[in-house]
Formats: sequence, C-alpha cells, structure tokens
Amino acid sequence: MGGARILVVEDEEALTMLLRYNLDAEGYEVETVARGDEADTRLKEHVPDLVVLDWMLPGLSGIELCRRLRARDETRQLPIIMLTARGEESERVRGLATGADDYIVKPFSVPELLARVRGLLRRARPERMATRLAFGDLEIDREKHRVTRAGRALELGPTEYRLLEYLMEHPGRVFTREQLLDGVWGRDIYIDERTVDVHIGRLRKVVNIGRGQDPIRTVRGAGYAFDERFGRDDGA
Ligand code: CA
Repeated sequence: MGGARILVVEDEEALTMLLRYNLDAEGYEVETVARGDEADTRLKEHVPDLVVLDWMLPGLSGIELCRRLRARDETRQLPIIMLTARGEESERVRGLATGADDYIVKPFSVPELLARVRGLLRRARPERMATRLAFGDLEIDREKHRVTRAGRALELGPTEYRLLEYLMEHPGRVFTREQLLDGVWGRDIYIDERTVDVHIGRLRKVVNIGRGQDPIRTVRGAGYAFDERFGRDDGA
C-alpha cells in the first residue's frame, strides 16, 4: 500500500496538517489543497490514487466536486472518502448518492481514517496490497483479519493485530517505540511509550504459545523488529 498518492482537500489547517503528518508516516505521498475549485483544477492535471474530500469547502463544495469527478472518465473510479461534520446524516446519504466510496464523520480518530484509506485502496487496487502476509508458519489473512500459526488460529486484540501486521509489512526493519506508536496508534494521541512494550508482550504471549522461535526481535536501546530470518532457520 505504500507509495499510493493521496490528495487531501480540506480547508481546516490543523486537520490538514494532522492528516498530512499521519498519511505521510504511513508511507503515502500526500498533497493537500484547501479549496474545492483548486482541487478541481488539480485533479484535471493529475489523478491520485485516493482523495480525502471535505464536505464544506471554499470555492466549490465537496459534494459538487465529487459530482464533477464522477462525471469525468479519468476520475470516475477514483476512490473518494468524504469528510462530513457530525449531525449531517442526511448529507451523508447525499454524499454517498453522489458517488463517494466512503465517508467519515468529524471528529474522527486518525487510526480510523487510516483504516478506511487502507481498505479503500485495497479494494481499488487489490494488487497494491497482499491480502496474505506469511513468514514461516505465521500467517496473516488481511481480508479475514485472521492470524494463524502452524494453521492454528490465534486470538489477537485489535492493537496486537495491527502491531503484528505493521511489523510484518517491514520485515527486518527496526522500529523505535515512538515510530510504532505513530504507525499503529496514530500521531494524534499521546500514549506512553511503555504501552508499546505492554502490547508487544501480549502479542508475543499469543504468537509464541508453546513454540520455540519468537518472530519479534527486541533490539536493545532501539526498539522492535519482525525477525526477517523467522521461519528460515528453524529453532534458532
Ligand atoms: Ca471544511
């Protein structure tokens, strides 16, 4: 999923910065535009992989922009996530009717938005993201949100699941606790770095039950990594 280009159309500066920061941290190429009419012009020049589109915008409303995008061949299939304010239920329905693929109600949590982005990109470009991640006898089925080891289903909490998925997406890469907080929890919330240790501990407990080889490597003074040799040298 990394490398996908995302255009954020939003006029609230703080929210734009927050989205840019977090999408960037996920490895997306992010562009931001604050006006609907500018976004319209931009999208005629260059079609990204996904658009995060605010409903209320100066210049041209998100709903009108969405309508225009759906009317053009080049952007007919462009994945669009609409941002709406709380209490705009009827507008939400109109947003979908106009052709947005998904919508999210403000205020939303960043991990929630990131999950929607991932989901939409996966549906739009299934080849961009493997549905199955496997190393040795450990496997994640992302469509079913299922983790198995040696064919046996593991019961992971949502945070442990996302943590394992994140580490497995980058085998061998050492992440600091701060980077894991950013990547797994999102950057808009303050969580103590020791929380990462707690969740790594829980993850290990489930993943390693009755087994010798630990797929997660603790790098002293640095952080954690998914052991890229996992499953290759059995019993190491
Ligand atoms: Ca707005």
